[in-house]
Amino acid sequence: MHTYDSDDLTAIREGVRALCAEFDASYWRKIDEEKSFPEAFVKAMTDAGWLSAMIPEQYGGSGLGLAEASVILEEVNACGGNSGTVHGQMYNMFTLLRHGSEEQKRQYLPKLASGELRLQSMGVTEPTTGTDTTKIKTTAVRQGDEYVINGQKVWISRIQHSDLMILLARTTPLAEVKKKSEGMSIFLVDLREAIGNGLTVQPIANMVNHETNELFFDNLKIPASSLIGEEGKGFRYILDGLNAERTLIAAECIGDGRWFIEKSAQYARDRVVFGRPIGQNQGVQFPIAEAHIEIEAADLMRWRACAEYDSGQNAGASANMAKYLAAKASWEAANACLQTHGGFGFACEYDVERKFRETRLYQVAPISTNLILSYVAEHLLELPRSF
Ligand SMILES: Cc1cc2nc3c(=O)[nH]c(=O)nc-3n(C[C@H](O)[C@H](O)[C@H](O)COP(=O)(O)OP(=O)(O)OC[C@H]3O[C@@H](n4cnc5c(N)ncnc54)[C@H](O)[C@@H]3O)c2cc1C
Repeated sequence: MHTYDSDDLTAIREGVRALCAEFDASYWRKIDEEKSFPEAFVKAMTDAGWLSAMIPEQYGGSGLGLAEASVILEEVNACGGNSGTVHGQMYNMFTLLRHGSEEQKRQYLPKLASGELRLQSMGVTEPTTGTDTTKIKTTAVRQGDEYVINGQKVWISRIQHSDLMILLARTTPLAEVKKKSEGMSIFLVDLREAIGNGLTVQPIANMVNHETNELFFDNLKIPASSLIGEEGKGFRYILDGLNAERTLIAAECIGDGRWFIEKSAQYARDRVVFGRPIGQNQGVQFPIAEAHIEIEAADLMRWRACAEYDSGQNAGASANMAKYLAAKASWEAANACLQTHGGFGFACEYDVERKFRETRLYQVAPISTNLILSYVAEHLLELPRSF
């Protein structure tokens, strides 16, 4: 049992661990080597209902809170898996749940809960604007009963394993809005109809086995009913969902951190060089101990974010700080783990190099560490906005 765990959370941990035991290190190693997608794992997580944790019961989900959802993703990573392959299905529906019409929610949420439909993708980032989201150039222009989409997105994950995508596009030109955050809208795009009919997908080879793509929109026509909420308010809707997403990513990093620490300590106890376990040397012990302290500290901030979110308070500060601390701590733990393993850390069969690559992503995506520091400086410390 971890800090703050209740019996319910412990039961969730045990349930997820039991499922993950069927997808052991050799499973993930093979998926990584083949650069394939863990379909069987995703199906098992869906069928067991773990991915619909936060969908309300009236729409076929379990109606659980962020604390419970975070434990699910944490355990996947703590068991050696990669929850980056499933987390989109858990959190991309936030915009739909919070801002979709009752009709849209009834149409989609039960099918997302059962896994009949996959909403694994969210298209925000663009090649020429990057982190400066309000400058996005992808446009959606209303023409009768349709919107016509033109533009480009980059780094859009799991498109090839998703039926639907949340898309952010500009519906009013930047020059015509009072505030740059206005005039963008959110759409639920049916990828099964869009790909090949105005949407082209170009996979991006990358250092992690993470299915991610460049998207090209060339007069893609989508029904006007795809709009979520009010036209022009999409940026605020996206921001609304981010606190939960950041807390979930923090939990994934905590899971990674626990995996690295456990793996390091085990190896340091077992590996004998100079006639004694390497873990008897303080030079080997201290980085592992330091990583443990930092993961535990990040975990406290994660629980604070969960408590605030689940009680309806603004979790912005805690969610950002939890993501910052956890992503940094998991990376330090990864580094300590690789160093502890010496040369063997580089051998694929130890899984360290794979997890090392996987956890590194979280200081860049879904939000880079610098942008969290900017948020804290501006919103908590009242320093002048830097951009
Ligand atoms: C594997 C992967 C999967 C992804 N999946 C998705 C997805 O599914 N959907 C999606 O929309 N996006 C996705 N992304 C995109 C991701 O969110 C962005 O890469 C990230 O937000 C950074 O944007 P950028 O790459 O354009 O970097 P840039 O904005 O070009 O920034 C580059 C560097 O400069 C720093 N920087 C920029 N401006 C400032 C500033 N004002 N002050 C200080 N530092 C600054 C940044 O912190 C960063 O380190 C994914 C990215 C990766 C790598």
